[in-house]
Amino acid sequence: MSRLTALFLSFLLLSTLCACAAPSSSPDGGGNADPQEENGQNPGADTAPGEEDASQAAPPEPAPYEILDPTVMPEGGTRDGVAYTAYDGVVEHLFFHPVVAYPELAFDGDSQADGIDDYMVTVGEYNKILQSLYEKDYILVDIGDVWREETGEDGRQTMVRNTLYLPEGKKPLILSFDDVNYYDYMLSNGFTYKLILGEDGKIASYGRSPSGKEVVSRELDAIPILDQFVEEHPDFSPFGAKGCLSLTGYQGILGYRTQTDQENWTAEREEARQKEIEAVKPIIAELKRTGWTFGSHTWGHIRLGTRPMEVIKQDTQRWFDEVGNLVGPTTILFYPHGERPDGDDWKKTGPVLQYLQSQGFRVFASVGIESFSYIKRDLCAVICDRLHPDGITLRHSRERYLPFYDAKDILDVSVRPQREISWE
Ligand SMILES: [Zn+2]
Repeated sequence: MSRLTALFLSFLLLSTLCACAAPSSSPDGGGNADPQEENGQNPGADTAPGEEDASQAAPPEPAPYEILDPTVMPEGGTRDGVAYTAYDGVVEHLFFHPVVAYPELAFDGDSQADGIDDYMVTVGEYNKILQSLYEKDYILVDIGDVWREETGEDGRQTMVRNTLYLPEGKKPLILSFDDVNYYDYMLSNGFTYKLILGEDGKIASYGRSPSGKEVVSRELDAIPILDQFVEEHPDFSPFGAKGCLSLTGYQGILGYRTQTDQENWTAEREEARQKEIEAVKPIIAELKRTGWTFGSHTWGHIRLGTRPMEVIKQDTQRWFDEVGNLVGPTTILFYPHGERPDGDDWKKTGPVLQYLQSQGFRVFASVGIESFSYIKRDLCAVICDRLHPDGITLRHSRERYLPFYDAKDILDVSVRPQREISWE
């Protein structure tokens, strides 16, 4: 970490908002947000050992984890003709859900259409947002480089804000992407099906067009689109950062069905699962190699504010077993539904936050109207909020998002449902 200088021991308290921007009707999880309840299983028994079919193979070996270090930040001075200056201001943080590749499937008037309109942007809108962020002098930084863990004078571990050294005039931006799982409901609703490696070895998406034709593309999915944008505009990511992918586990990850099912498990299903695991490994490796990182969104997209502690513990262990084992360790947790644990995680430190922190998580991200962040004093943890470019804010929060883009230039009313727009 020598490239980073620690100066920041005070905290930023920009907003006291609770994260209420991701209501329970969010399509996060596809109306399937709590599969444990949905399946009518007893959550308490959900991960009980010994319930699985005895023929199930041993858990897979953890994939070798190579820590990508995308942010080589010079400590000031000039490099390659670019002057780097210290930055201790707000680090803006925007998050996206999967983007809509085929609006005619997403906005076909079915029961999912309004939810997709609320919480997603289309590929066309996403392209315009990236272009605007670039033109407004934002540059990508990795969420893992904004804070670090340090031992204080009293011997206690604490999180510390890093001073970022940025090209002069540039502003740091974290991007995160929730539910990069390619849930079943999305496949028929205008989203891509999975990430794959294209013929050139680069990350692409696989899916089907509205007419059912197989499509491999780098232009229909948020991840390869950002990869391409950075290829064309390398100064948008001077340190190699892309975004943090927030993963659940209940329908696998990245479009691969790597999850277990506690009921009806058979040797055949385990064999199929192992094939999916082998298939996703090179995708994970390429994502890491190209600046993407991973965070937990819990295994079952569970509500951390209301579920019993026992359920939270079992869910967390299952995330480590089925997702962490594949993507490697992470210190980032993105709250499903934006729901904060223990009622309020920054004014007080309750048992759920304490437990999650004890499992290795350090950065706890919700959703709000500011890129708020707060370094806890009684626990080695950072609480933060993210802004959410989506249909709701495009329609109703134009002013707030003007520092990033003008919704008037972005919102594609020609493909979206005819619903209210506040700024018209
Ligand atoms: Zn989610």
